[in-house]
Amino acid sequence: MYGWTGRMLRVDLTAGTATAEELCPHDLHVFVGARGLGSKLLYDAGAYDVDPFAPENPLIFATGPLTGTYAPSAGRYNVLCRSPLTGAIAASNSGGYWAPELKFAGFDLIYVTGKAAAPVYLWVHDGKAEIRPADGLWGKTVSETEYAVRARTHPEAKVACIGPAGERLVRIACVVNDRSRAAGRSGVGAVMGSKNLKAIAVRGTGPVRVADKEAFKAARKRAMEKILTHPVTSAGLPAYGTAVLVNVINAHGAFPTRNFQTGVFPEADRISGETLAKEYLVRKKACFACSMACGRPTAIPSGPYRGAGEGPEYEAAWALGADCGVSDLAAVTHANWQCNEMGIDPISYGATLACAMELYQRGYLSKEQAGRELRWGDGHLLVEGVRLTAFREGIGNLLAEGSYRMASEFGHPELAMTAKKQEYPAYEPRAVQGIGLSYATSNRGGCHVRGYTIAPEVLGIPEKLDPLVADNKAFWVKTFQDATALVDSSGLCLFVTFAIGVPEIADLLAAATGEAYTAESGLLAGERVWNLERMFNLKAGFTRADDTLAPRLLSEPMPEGPARGQVSRIDLMLPEYYRLRGWDEEGRPTEATLARLGLRW
Ligand code: SF4
Repeated sequence: MYGWTGRMLRVDLTAGTATAEELCPHDLHVFVGARGLGSKLLYDAGAYDVDPFAPENPLIFATGPLTGTYAPSAGRYNVLCRSPLTGAIAASNSGGYWAPELKFAGFDLIYVTGKAAAPVYLWVHDGKAEIRPADGLWGKTVSETEYAVRARTHPEAKVACIGPAGERLVRIACVVNDRSRAAGRSGVGAVMGSKNLKAIAVRGTGPVRVADKEAFKAARKRAMEKILTHPVTSAGLPAYGTAVLVNVINAHGAFPTRNFQTGVFPEADRISGETLAKEYLVRKKACFACSMACGRPTAIPSGPYRGAGEGPEYEAAWALGADCGVSDLAAVTHANWQCNEMGIDPISYGATLACAMELYQRGYLSKEQAGRELRWGDGHLLVEGVRLTAFREGIGNLLAEGSYRMASEFGHPELAMTAKKQEYPAYEPRAVQGIGLSYATSNRGGCHVRGYTIAPEVLGIPEKLDPLVADNKAFWVKTFQDATALVDSSGLCLFVTFAIGVPEIADLLAAATGEAYTAESGLLAGERVWNLERMFNLKAGFTRADDTLAPRLLSEPMPEGPARGQVSRIDLMLPEYYRLRGWDEEGRPTEATLARLGLRW
């Protein structure tokens, strides 16, 4: 087999077994891999009916057919399960070097069920696997775990693991690989913790074979020419990382501030990529086979936040910064390092702390209940709160549940800035209409990387749209969602799509796998994945009523900035979106749509 290895590792932690199995060639072709193939396996397992923390909830680590090839930025994998944060399907994406190593070891994916009687780690090496006791590893931070596991396995092993947050079933816990690359969203780290699985170390020396070497080389060359000449992928991302967006988004009045009370943060420049580059950046860092190198190793030379680590990238700089009213870049940077070490999603953590701060501001959460004051802009609270959350101590035990559950406990769920109980990322739906529809319809809840319409609405890629206009945004959201599902299933980093599109990705897939992928069939595969995820969520109990945004964004006009007076027009966009998707008025795929996509089996 080419591109794919055609094999998965099935691990039953209750039984203590790990066995290799063949994957279905038809499923590989039509669901492509990674997010798509993992969704198919989750759906077939009936995971929509299981408690996310039950041993039966599968936890899937899935690569794509391009992962580990020398296609541009082809180092990605997805972690999938039923989410303990949302109850919806979770597919959380990460880069680094772990996923290619899994391919080199001879597997496309690892499928984990059950629960070990005591903490364990998994050691996968060149077609073999062992479940080993994690003696002395439970309680360790991410970097401590990585060093310790490598010492017990192989100096070149790549490690994906959880920190203390995942061990304590913190619903916003992530899986971190290569110490700072995270499958960050939807609480996948908590599911790993619920299985008593601390880490997966992988080491492989085998090849990832491509079907047509000459065609693959030519397709790669065409893609690289575009990546190396596009201003975002050749200059913006390499120079400043994703945080180059801070000032851009703030200038559009779309930088959510103090729990989305406004879209303008006057001190935005103090937490921008440009300032980070000037103050704390050590060097750039790349994932496997990536020329963009958006990773940001950083160091703070002195003061209370002295130390070294990685990031923050744009979303983290926003969530830990403007959303909490914090402009102290050292505090934001240090909090981000702490999130990496504790294994916490910085987007959901910052957004949940911001929600707690607003509950406190309005008198719904008292100082006695919080155990302390929760003031906007408090950098010390921001930093200390990460550890408290990971260990579920004090206010941290509230934050560990995510903002929807926390705000509901105090009688004000409307103050949770979430879709399907997952916190929004760093763009204001009142100032950028399409991204609001993207959040509302995202299959994994509030998320920017399911349909990044910021590209056309703000950055003008592939063409400039007016962000304040709702007309025709349903078309763009659907197109971006389907294309993104293909990218995530292929094993490429989403950032390549600033420069290349579905035709280039289809060429790479066809040359790598030998299957007849075209731009049309590739986009159809993305649409198939999207609808399968939707079917999962419908079976999990989600309805049209869940395709919405927080009441504030629908009814409170933006108070200032370029989007002053605007509200999100989901009411206009959603019916059109359902129509374009071939769904009925309740948001259910029609029989004709399912048949067209081959989703009847
Ligand atoms: S663009 Fe950034 S996140 Fe994507 S593969 Fe490259 S270094 Fe990794």
